Amino acid sequence: MSRRSHCPVLVVGAGLAGCTTALCLAEKGIPVTLLAASDSPENANSWLAQGGIIYRAPEDSDAARLEEDIITAGHGLNLPEAVSFLVNEGPRAVDELLTAHLRVPFDRREAGDPEGLFWDLTREGGHSASRIIHCADHTGRTIMEHLHGIVSRHPAVTYLQGYTAIDLLTSHHHCHGLVYRYQLENECCGVYVFNEASRSVETMLADITVLATGGAGQVYLHSSNVSTATGAALSMASRAFVRLMNMEFMQFHPTTLFHIEPRRVLITEALRGEGAHLINAKGSRFMEKRDQRGELAPRDVASRIILDELLETGEPCVFLDARPVKHDLEARFPTVLQSCLERGIDIRTQPIPVVPAAHYFCGGILVDREGRTSLPRLYAVGECACTGLHGANRLASASLLEALVWGKSAAEDIAARVHAGLGPFTRLHADIEDWHDQGDEHNDDPALISQDWATIRNTMWNYVGLSRTTPRLLRAFEDLRDLSRHLHNFYKSTPISRPIIDLFHGCQTAYLITQAALRNKKGIGCHRRV
Ligand SMILES: Cc1cc2nc3c(=O)[nH]c(=O)nc-3n(C[C@H](O)[C@H](O)[C@H](O)COP(=O)(O)OP(=O)(O)OC[C@H]3O[C@@H](n4cnc5c(N)ncnc54)[C@H](O)[C@@H]3O)c2cc1C
Repeated sequence: MSRRSHCPVLVVGAGLAGCTTALCLAEKGIPVTLLAASDSPENANSWLAQGGIIYRAPEDSDAARLEEDIITAGHGLNLPEAVSFLVNEGPRAVDELLTAHLRVPFDRREAGDPEGLFWDLTREGGHSASRIIHCADHTGRTIMEHLHGIVSRHPAVTYLQGYTAIDLLTSHHHCHGLVYRYQLENECCGVYVFNEASRSVETMLADITVLATGGAGQVYLHSSNVSTATGAALSMASRAFVRLMNMEFMQFHPTTLFHIEPRRVLITEALRGEGAHLINAKGSRFMEKRDQRGELAPRDVASRIILDELLETGEPCVFLDARPVKHDLEARFPTVLQSCLERGIDIRTQPIPVVPAAHYFCGGILVDREGRTSLPRLYAVGECACTGLHGANRLASASLLEALVWGKSAAEDIAARVHAGLGPFTRLHADIEDWHDQGDEHNDDPALISQDWATIRNTMWNYVGLSRTTPRLLRAFEDLRDLSRHLHNFYKSTPISRPIIDLFHGCQTAYLITQAALRNKKGIGCHRRV
């Protein structure tokens, strides 16, 4: 029999966004259940962040300039209120949570620095000033080591690893009682979750559910993302008819290592910020002749220029030459140096072969300033949410800050509601059906699953990638629609498992991105229509 449980707040995803929300709630005395699909906490994009997190430049006018940079990078499709919220709340969130509370050791300038700076501020593409703080080039790992350590041991947090969310529970879709089905307002009541250890599906009921499952890079052939980035929250939200937004905007990072590996190693943009040059196979620089910002052009522009250069030269990759960087590469970029050395490339003496790869999902579940979605009792934070901050393209190093600011803000809103007596809705919960696993045929052949993933990833890379045309998008739409139907029928007869859930989420996410890309006839930002 399926296991049922209830908690006041259920947070799905334990990256920076989910852990921040959980910590802020727990510290206000609210019990939280925190789920992570993977057994390893490091299977979250937050651990991979290299470049850093936006703080502020020393100039007084930096808030206005930062707003301008975010909106320029986002091609004006940003929500101005979301931009000002991040710019105003960001430095405070960094000071209070990361520096004072978690004591994250961001790199500092030497005492007596000629510019009088305390933090070692760096710069990345699209930024008009140096305003990013970092821990060498392993900022995400260091932040998460501190945050995850505290959250996972907090007495108010029940932290469950190896639990994969399958679907949202809603009063319209999962209640027996007609009284709930006839209600105009649908409500989120929790999540069906696959427990990997017991290989069973649990009904996790919650007064408030928070989605924080991160990005969707895994639906592309080349991606910098971890394996859990399948767009799970997007797929679950779409099935519950939650409003999604800007789904066509997948950001491609211009420089990931060109190497034979399933996940592309990121070569941080901060290297270009510190003076590295992009060159072609002949050793010539090509950025400046196509955009006056040169190496510091925003990501969508830089990726497109590289793609054009590759198409023109017929080469498989371009190169990033780190030799002009003035810093000691060993001290400032140890992760990139080590990752490249492990693959036979010494960045101190030779250029790094690079290609663009799917990196950051700018759209997602539409949320307001408090992380509320269009479905009552459901919140979304982090990369799976669309706050309006990024518009058509994200400014570098803005996403860790967004996860932090909205994680905190959602927790404050939820806490206020819980303390005001939101209360459990026991009768409705009692009416929710448990999961029925009908499958009894063992069809989950790994060869079938990996072939379906290959179809999704190749379709997305070739037809819904950096350069999109109507015939390509139509073809992707038809192929993914057919695959989606096929998966539904085929796996109805197969017992549920983690690979099947991931495949379902991935296929649905890819289909949603394709539909949005097809609908938006105007090429803008990360969505380039040719
Ligand atoms: C290589 C790389 C470098 C980056 N560098 C920077 C940088 O320098 N600065 C910056 O601002 N941003 C950077 N980013 C982006 C940034 O890291 C992410 O946008 C941000 O960390 C996302 O945080 P998150 O909490 O939303 O998601 P994640 O950190 O990805 O966490 C997602 C969580 O959800 C869980 N999960 C997923 N699916 C399910 C499911 N079905 N059920 C249960 N749990 C699930 C995962 O296990 C994980 O715990 C980088 C990203 C990458 C990939």
